Amino acid sequence: MTAQTQSSLNCTQLRGTVVAVQANFYQVKLDKPITTESMGDRQYLLCTRRTRLKKIGQKVMVGDRVLVEEPDWLDGRGAIAEVLPRQSQLERPPVANADRILLVFALEEPTLDPWQLSRFLVKAESTALELCLCLNKTDLIHSSQQQQWHNRLTAWGYEPIFISVAANLGLDNLITHLQDKITIVAGPSGVGKSSLINKLIPAVDLRVGEVSGKLQRGRHTTRHVELFELPVGGLLADSPGFNQPDLDCQPSELAFYFPEARERLARGNCQFSNCLHRDEPNCMVRGDWERYEHYLKFLEETIARQEALQQMPERESSLKLKVKGSGKHEYEPKLESKKYRRVSRRSKQQTLQERYENQSLEEIYEEVEDF
Ligand code: GDP
Ligand code: ZN
Repeated sequence: MTAQTQSSLNCTQLRGTVVAVQANFYQVKLDKPITTESMGDRQYLLCTRRTRLKKIGQKVMVGDRVLVEEPDWLDGRGAIAEVLPRQSQLERPPVANADRILLVFALEEPTLDPWQLSRFLVKAESTALELCLCLNKTDLIHSSQQQQWHNRLTAWGYEPIFISVAANLGLDNLITHLQDKITIVAGPSGVGKSSLINKLIPAVDLRVGEVSGKLQRGRHTTRHVELFELPVGGLLADSPGFNQPDLDCQPSELAFYFPEARERLARGNCQFSNCLHRDEPNCMVRGDWERYEHYLKFLEETIARQEALQQMPERESSLKLKVKGSGKHEYEPKLESKKYRRVSRRSKQQTLQERYENQSLEEIYEEVEDF
């Protein structure tokens, strides 16, 4: 029997979900709390990743279901021994096993812009996760306007949930859609996402407050992501703020990200199997629906993007194409690439350390190096 097998047999394996990742540390919420003599009841364990996972290149993401080995009760730290198969995986924000996206927009302040909403909806649809549309700040509009938006969005194929975080309206209804799921909160800035998370998870208040101070920049510009636990069960992930998501899908896929077009295609096929639903004869999709003009505009964008990618010289293949608001294309380094997102290891350790533990940084640092 190898030392490795021996050690895994000797250890208790616990099941849990990774709720935060920073540098080489993983905060794991155990499915069942454990009781230890030295530390009492523990539901959260700060973990590292077993060397054999590193060797096989197994990454650990927030949302991952993991098996944890607790080699030493004295220091209260675990080691992730195995990552269970993922049901879903998002790159931005990097979250495994998310069930749905909660897309939040405000009805006013900022005024709801149908084009921007459409762009976010298409982007969210392209993830293939369930989509829940939530419109905030109902306190700022008249009920007749709310009804108009309701009718308009129903025609788009959505059933929006109207809320007001400020006036405490509609939140109970919203919660029923989030219970026992991993939900990613997305939407432009200023619509009330942070206010909503604070309201739904009062205990997070302090942590968000902490984050909005010195970590604010980090939170919105790096791939740092954390899951917050809903009191009713379920986890929420905040996504980095962006106001104008890129449409990076294939032109031929685009129609499937519009429920109105999907519905038309379900009724019958276009004459040409590669129809892009512009001016081709006998097209099922072209027609009198409000967002058809959005479709055409976004289609142009995806085609322009595809053409620019095809013309991209080889040496730039490691760069990511970015479509600027002006329609101009520019290259920017791929964010996925490690060398472009170096963050001081020590500072990352500090933040996680501050949040969860009281042990000194030096002690943790030594442990990780020894692992
Ligand atoms: P985020 O950028 O999406 O996270 O938005 P914030 O949570 O920071 O909220 C932006 C602004 O909208 C803040 O001034 C909030 O107080 C305000 N706000 C949030 N929810 C509501 C609401 O339901 N009604 C009104 N009138 N204001 C709200
Ligand atoms: Zn067509």
